[in-house]
Amino acid sequence: MSSVSLPELRERVWRANQAIVRAGLVTLSFGNASGVDRRAGVMVIKPSGVPYDELKPEHLVVVRLEDGRVVEGELRPSSDTPTHLALYRRFPEIGGVVHTHSTAATAWAQAGRPIPPFGTTHADHFHGQVPVTRQMTPDEVGGEYEAETGAVIIETLERLGLPAAEMPATLVASHGPFTWGRDPQDAADNATALEVVAAMAAQTLALRPDAGPMADYLMERHFRRKHGPNAYYGQGHR
Ligand SMILES: [Zn+2]
Repeated sequence: MSSVSLPELRERVWRANQAIVRAGLVTLSFGNASGVDRRAGVMVIKPSGVPYDELKPEHLVVVRLEDGRVVEGELRPSSDTPTHLALYRRFPEIGGVVHTHSTAATAWAQAGRPIPPFGTTHADHFHGQVPVTRQMTPDEVGGEYEAETGAVIIETLERLGLPAAEMPATLVASHGPFTWGRDPQDAADNATALEVVAAMAAQTLALRPDAGPMADYLMERHFRRKHGPNAYYGQGHR
């Protein structure tokens, strides 16, 4: 993401938080979006437990990327803050992170199943099957749980050799989806795409339980026209 002022980043993170609500991805208060300013070394994230309809840009909390210390804001940051921080620290190319418990994507996470690429809607956003983490251990859950959640996402991507820019989503087993993108809106768009793709995949398997993944050449064509050096879809990155 090109560098923006802190008030502008607050506004963008606020809009991404509104976007995931509008897209129907948030039940109760299960959901949070964040954005990062690499030059300033800070992340802006939703506060913990503030109802979405009362959320204003000035409620967002600014924390230091390095150690998670709150540097601006009256409220406590989202309890998922350490997960977001872990992803930003490991993947310098990402500028926004979103977490929800959206129904269809969470169903795959609860089933412990990766989402197979069945069609072009999937391939437009995700390069191959969307991975699911292993179950977290009692020690991980009993310890620094939220930071360990970030670690298990990173472990999953690295084990599968998936670059974060090509696979902007991971399902945390028995929990739900985390997505990311070049900025907060892109991360929110990927959360919306993931939910749609998850619902479509479940319906595909209901109609045809032995359905196989789409052809590789079709997936490559769709992914590459939106991503990478030869992308030609849309109006280019703003
Ligand atoms: Zn959660």
